[in-house]
Amino acid sequence: MPSPSLPPSFDNTALAFNYKSDAALKKARFLFTVMSNPLLVLVGTRLVSWAIRMGLPVNGLIRSTLFSQFIGGETLEQTVPVAAKLNSFQVKVILDYAVEGKQGDHFYDQARDQFLRVIDFAATHPNIPFISIKLTGLARFELLEELNKRMVAIDKPLLARYELALNQLSPATLNEWGRVFSRIEKICFHATTKKIAVTLDAEETWIQEPLDALCAIQMELCNKKFPFVYNTYQLYRTDRLTFLQSMHELATSRGYITGAKLVRGAYMEKERKRAAEMGYASPINPTKEATDLLYDQTLRFCIDNLNQVGVIVASHNEESSLLAFNLLKEQGLPPDHPHIHWSQLYGMSDNITFNLAAAGCSVSKYLPFGPIEDVVPYLMRRAQENTSVKGQTGKELRLIQKELVRRAHSA
Ligand SMILES: Cc1cc2nc3c(=O)[nH]c(=O)nc-3n(C[C@H](O)[C@H](O)[C@H](O)COP(=O)(O)OP(=O)(O)OC[C@H]3O[C@@H](n4cnc5c(N)ncnc54)[C@H](O)[C@@H]3O)c2cc1C
Repeated sequence: MPSPSLPPSFDNTALAFNYKSDAALKKARFLFTVMSNPLLVLVGTRLVSWAIRMGLPVNGLIRSTLFSQFIGGETLEQTVPVAAKLNSFQVKVILDYAVEGKQGDHFYDQARDQFLRVIDFAATHPNIPFISIKLTGLARFELLEELNKRMVAIDKPLLARYELALNQLSPATLNEWGRVFSRIEKICFHATTKKIAVTLDAEETWIQEPLDALCAIQMELCNKKFPFVYNTYQLYRTDRLTFLQSMHELATSRGYITGAKLVRGAYMEKERKRAAEMGYASPINPTKEATDLLYDQTLRFCIDNLNQVGVIVASHNEESSLLAFNLLKEQGLPPDHPHIHWSQLYGMSDNITFNLAAAGCSVSKYLPFGPIEDVVPYLMRRAQENTSVKGQTGKELRLIQKELVRRAHSA
C-alpha cells in the first residue's frame, strides 16, 4: 500500500478493485461493454421504462445488472454491508435516497421524513459523514420554475432577488413555497445537530436560482463553525466561478463557511438544446477544455480559501482529482484536511476513489439507495452518461481488463 502523502497513482488497479471478487469484476466488464453501445443503451432504457410502466416483471433483471453496479440497496439497512466494506478500505459514503419522479405534498413530506431517517442512520455509522438531497424530490418542478423565472428577471444580488420574487407570488403559491422551505430547513437543522453534512444537488439552470437561495440561507444558519451545508456548482456553466466568489464574499461578511461541491454538470445536451430552441445564449462553456479550465480554477479558488470554504471534489476526472491533492501539498495542508473531500459515484472510477483513500485523502462513494422502480431514473442517467461521456466507459473497461489480466497472472 502506498504511504499516505505520496500522490496517488490512478493506475493501481490492484488497489482500485481489491474490494471486488473476480465474478463481480467480470460482471462489471459485461455491463460497461453493453453500455459502450449507444444503440443498445437507447433501446434498453426505453424498453425498461416501458416495461415498468406496463407492470412487467423486470425487477429481477434490473437488480442483477445496473442496480447491483450503481445502487447500494433497496432499503437503508441493505446499504450496511456496502458501507462496511467501503469502510474497510478507508472509503466513506455520501448516502443518497435516490427516489425520483414522485409528485405531491404527501410524497414530498414522505421524502423529508426519509431524509431525517437517513441522517439518523448516518450518525450511527462510522463512515457516512454526508447525505445528499435533490430539491426536486421535495418540491414541485413547476413551482421551482416559476420562482426561478421571477428571480432571473430581477437585477439584484441573490438574496434580494429571492425576497422580491417571493413578494410577487400568489398567497397559495407562497404557502406552497413555505412548505418546501420548511422541509429543507428541517433536514439541514437535523443534520447539523447530528453532525452530518448535507449536499444539495445542482439541477437544470431553469430551476437552480431558488435552490441557490435556499442553500445560502441554510448555510448562514448551519455553517457558522463547520461546513454542514453544501451547494453544488456546475462548472460547465460559464457563470459559476463568479457566482461562487460572490457567495464566498457574502459568507465572509456574515461570518459563516461556504460549502461548495464542485461538479462539471450533468445536463449539458438538455441545456444547449433549450437555449437554442428558446433563442437565448447557452449558459454552457463552448468546449470541454473551457469546462476543465474553469473547474480547475474554481478548485484553486476554494483551496486558496480553505479556511472559509469547504470543498467536495465530486468528479471522475483524474487530472482535477490529482490537482486538488497537489494544491493541498503546495500549501502544506494535509490530504485529510476537514474542509476538503473527494467523491465518485458508486460503481464508477474505483481507481480514483481507492487510490485517493490509500494516499490518506478523505474520499467517498456517492451511494444511492431506494426501491428498484423508484431509482430507475437515476439508473437510466448512469447508463446514458456512460455512453455519452467521452472516454469514461472505455476507461472503466481498460482498467477492469487490466486488473483481470493481472489477477490471472498472479494466480
Ligand atoms: C459525487 C458526484 C456528485 C454529482 N452531483 C451532481 C449534481 O449535483 N449535479 C450535476 O449536474 N451533476 C452531478 N454530478 C455529475 C457531474 O456533473 C458530471 O456529469 C460527471 O461527474 C462527469 O464529469 P467529471 O468531472 O466526472 O469528468 P469528465 O469526464 O472530465 O467531464 C465530463 C463532463 O465535462 C463537461 N463537458 C463535456 N463535454 C463538454 C463540452 N463539449 N463543452 C463543455 N463541457 C463539456 C460535462 O459536464 C461532462 O459531464 C455528480 C458527479 C459526482 C461524481
